[in-house]
Amino acid sequence: MKTGILGGTFNPVHNGHIEMARAILESKIVDKILFVVAQNPPHKEGVNTDASHRFNMVSLVCDKITTFPSDIELNKQTNYTFDTLTLLSAQNPKDDFYFITGADMFLSLKNWYRGQELMKKFNFIAVERDGFFEDEKNKKLFEEISSLTNAHILKIKTPDISSTMIRKMVMQNRDITEFVPKKVADYIKNHGLYLGGE
Ligand code: ATP
Ligand code: MG
Repeated sequence: MKTGILGGTFNPVHNGHIEMARAILESKIVDKILFVVAQNPPHKEGVNTDASHRFNMVSLVCDKITTFPSDIELNKQTNYTFDTLTLLSAQNPKDDFYFITGADMFLSLKNWYRGQELMKKFNFIAVERDGFFEDEKNKKLFEEISSLTNAHILKIKTPDISSTMIRKMVMQNRDITEFVPKKVADYIKNHGLYLGGE
């Protein structure tokens, strides 16, 4: 099984995430995608929404056939991609793991925690949203990183949505149903999430 790993805080999960997963599955690089909900990512401050809410919302949008929620980082309190992928591959020794990352993050792989091992042991899907790798500066670094790991580049168009935008809209009492699945909009409403703008 080829498994894509889409990590995020998913605060909340939105149509941009879902569309990205759909496009990746359509590319057939992987057979399924795990949405790995982060506890408290080292590069992000102030994730104030309970992890259980974020996980529940991700669960609501996963079909459990090709997309699955994962709480591995919530239980293990691991935050580094290397630790998460190492644990997942120990638990699923027959699977191949493909870490999904944006183009800019992909270029910084060498600086990630245990970056060299990470690149050797695992595969990557670098999602290019705006011709990022065509830029001369990025192109060179991209070629260097690509020679160190097994990477697929995928150009995909996804809606320009962010969780930050959704949280702001909820706080301003605006309608978010265009940007998140109905189940997520209902969950946010029923649990009174983001009313304080957190
Ligand atoms: P925030 O606004 O809180 O930073 P976010 O919308 O960026 O949230 P994350 O949980 O940080 O959501 O994102 C998880 C993953 O999804 C990251 O790899 C991120 O780059 C990617 N992603 C976020 N929004 C989109 C989008 N509209 N289209 C494609 N990928 C996206
Ligand atoms: Mg983000």
